[in-house]
Amino acid sequence: MTGTKRVKLKPGDTIGILGGGQLGRMLAMAAARLGLRCQVFSPDPDSPAFDVVLNATCAEYADVEALELFANDVDVITYEFENVPAAAALVLDARRPVLPNRKILETTQDRLAEKDFITRLGIGTAAYADVTSVASLREAIVRIGLPAVLKTRRFGYDGKGQAIIREGDDIAKVWTGLGTKSAILEAFVPFEREISVIAARSAEGQVECFDVTENEHRDHILKISRAPAAIPDALAEEARNVAGKIADALDYVGVLAVEMFVLANGTGPKVLVNEIAPRVHNSGHWTLDGASVSQFEQHIRAIAGWPLGKPVRHGEVVTMTNLIGDEINRYTEWLTVPGATVHLYGKGTPKPGRKMGHVTEVAPARGK
Ligand code: AMP
Repeated sequence: MTGTKRVKLKPGDTIGILGGGQLGRMLAMAAARLGLRCQVFSPDPDSPAFDVVLNATCAEYADVEALELFANDVDVITYEFENVPAAAALVLDARRPVLPNRKILETTQDRLAEKDFITRLGIGTAAYADVTSVASLREAIVRIGLPAVLKTRRFGYDGKGQAIIREGDDIAKVWTGLGTKSAILEAFVPFEREISVIAARSAEGQVECFDVTENEHRDHILKISRAPAAIPDALAEEARNVAGKIADALDYVGVLAVEMFVLANGTGPKVLVNEIAPRVHNSGHWTLDGASVSQFEQHIRAIAGWPLGKPVRHGEVVTMTNLIGDEINRYTEWLTVPGATVHLYGKGTPKPGRKMGHVTEVAPARGK
């Protein structure tokens, strides 16, 4: 990995954030609480993060001049999405520290590179194979079996760029439908539940994990998260260790999320890693209202070169519900739910599948 640059910000310094979605917005709000400023770079003039910062750069990621001016205005640069173009990261890295380091993007932007990296660490994943043609897809199916999940190597999210292949499916049709020559086939994991670990790592190597989160998806999009996950302590410990090992191996500075499958029975590993997100993550939103320090604040602290917090959960049960698409129209009902904390992202039109806000419900700890 690249030598991670040392950063030590002081209050009043400016963090540059690539990407202007709700994650950038919540990062900027956490930074403001710590007396730090943010400047957001995004090509979308309607970026919700623009609303909460004084300075915004609205330009394409290929606009080298805009990137250079942006870099000159800030003290450190971070990102809220993993598909930052490599060329943009290179331009910025020549001028200011980019954290987490840009080499991490090469691993996490490519499902094959990511799975190879996880496997090299001795951590379990679903069985997988590189697929570049319908012939290699057929070979992979023989090796891995069905059902299986075909995924594009790059630019897949919320189930986009994925197809489940079942016995009897027309393989050639599935392959053409994916529309790329660069894919992986994964064994379908008969998971008992899905969990994620949100981990923060400082430049000094301090790692702090939040309590393991349990995640429920609807139409491949995260719908509800609960913390702590209903799993035995030993398994939660194993999941946190997996995340810590990944963060150490990447020489990571900031917050990362590791999505995992929990297997019910069997003699093999109990958790398999599905995906690494090199950024704050939707399944960590509960930490804003349910913990002493949020994932957003941990990320800001890490990239500022400040000590990480020791996260303490406030309540026994936490439910984070995403408001997706036109569910946002019912926000006034949520506002009246006792104990609910409502977050609206200030996005314009509620399109299907678009994350528009979330609600956190925290039950107080017993004895409080
Ligand atoms: P991903 O884009 O890889 O995070 O996948 C989105 C969702 O699809 C996951 O959260 C799972 O619910 C499901 N999924 C992805 N890969 C697999 C797999 N190999 N086996 C079973 N379910 C999967």
